[in-house]
Amino acid sequence: MSYRIKGQTGEWEVVIGMEVHAQVTSRSKLFSGASTKFGADPNDNVSLVDAAMPGMLPVLNKQAVRQAVRTGLGLKAAINLKSVFERKNYFYADLPQGYQISQYLEPIVGEGTLILDLDDGATREVGIERLHLEQDAGKSIHDQHPTMSYIDLNRSGVALMEIVSKPDLRSPEEAGAYLRKLRSILRYLGTCDGNMDEGSMRADVNVSVRKPGDEFGTRTETKNVNSIRFVQQVVEYEAKRQIKLIEDGGEVVQETRLFDPSNGTTRSMRSKEEAHDYRYFPDPDLLPLVIEQSFIDELSSDLPELPDDKKDRFIKDLGLPAYDASVLVADRERAEFFEVVAKGRDAKLASNWMIGDFFGALNKNNLELADSPISAEQLGGLVGLISDNTISGRIAKDVFEIMWETGRDADVIVEEKGLKQITDTGAIEAAIDDIIANNPQQVEQFKGGNEKLIGWFVGQTMKATGGKANPGMVNQLLKKKLAD
Ligand code: ADP
Ligand code: MG
Repeated sequence: MSYRIKGQTGEWEVVIGMEVHAQVTSRSKLFSGASTKFGADPNDNVSLVDAAMPGMLPVLNKQAVRQAVRTGLGLKAAINLKSVFERKNYFYADLPQGYQISQYLEPIVGEGTLILDLDDGATREVGIERLHLEQDAGKSIHDQHPTMSYIDLNRSGVALMEIVSKPDLRSPEEAGAYLRKLRSILRYLGTCDGNMDEGSMRADVNVSVRKPGDEFGTRTETKNVNSIRFVQQVVEYEAKRQIKLIEDGGEVVQETRLFDPSNGTTRSMRSKEEAHDYRYFPDPDLLPLVIEQSFIDELSSDLPELPDDKKDRFIKDLGLPAYDASVLVADRERAEFFEVVAKGRDAKLASNWMIGDFFGALNKNNLELADSPISAEQLGGLVGLISDNTISGRIAKDVFEIMWETGRDADVIVEEKGLKQITDTGAIEAAIDDIIANNPQQVEQFKGGNEKLIGWFVGQTMKATGGKANPGMVNQLLKKKLAD
């Protein structure tokens, strides 16, 4: 919230609202039975409806409706029992119908909320304005022939959810956190795969600036941004550009802009079109969509546990700090992995190992969780050996490395390499007696008041026992013997 940009005339605040297009997870398109499979050959997934042959009739895909309602429920939003499909008319080479079927005045989902998880563990609520269903367009390809463009209609008619936020975001970080959280919810629900690099989730980023406390300024809309990093670059670039423009005596014009990933800038694409330019009207080929409350209730009772609820449960039932809980619930696979690691074990210790050494190793090796050489049961096994004092945390780091290299179980490695912690008082005492006998000078200094030397004695004892002595016992015995 404290994000401010300094200009010539004082501090500015940036205001951001986002329209996210999310491809609905469904085997067929919104109004036809054609496949939605990614990576098919051009124009393989095109039915007569998608090619807009004259006289074809759209038939609504019930699965797409189900997914939109489930997403609405996941966003704690109002579900509208009646919604209307309208034609949004415009000409484009890859839009054979000459219009897009979308929802306008009466969308299927109304207002909801999304909770941002910020880096410092804080949270903030962002309003959702609406969610509506609409068709995707085809794709024009301009770089495969010297004089001609190609058209690929595979995406034509694919079901999209357009999810519109209120202008509640205030910084590039919040814009990023919004997209991360939205993607997480969609993936938990299985209503969109969230793969931005495959185009199944893309954002239109609306940005304006104002002096804190003033009315909202005029916004620009940068279209089809396809990564979280790019969205943050758009916000930063637009905010600075607009501030400079205003401070130089100019005015921001409401327009549609394009992002150029090669240099992180945006440029004007066209002046902003108004709703009346599209001449929306209810599609005469489609009846209003009317759903029963019982349909909603059924979907609602079937929702998975979503990240916010999971986070609360990790905090309340497992006693995890908010930060750990946010990190662990960020995606479903991660949360499920953690629950196996922590099952019946010290949850905080499990969380430390997962977020620390384990994620560290995945990152370093550029691996996804699914490719981990250590399974959740195996990581849990290691955590168990630490909590029941079989090995020390220090030795556990070595065991972890061997597990990572070999994929073997922690207890097997500990047994084979003789890494069990020494908890036998006699053995530790013998090592300490030796050290005391051989280092009279240090003993004298310690007794003379240099209490910091205890660390040195601990180090010597650990060294003498190959790092295997139980550190708690070493401390206790040393204090006792040095006091004698
Ligand atoms: P349109 O459909 O013409 O793009 P909407 O009213 O649906 O217009 O708003 C689109 C997006 O713009 C929403 O996400 C909204 O939060 C955002 N928005 C509206 N006003 C502003 C503003 N002044 N600054 C930044 N974003 C804004
Ligand atoms: Mg818009």
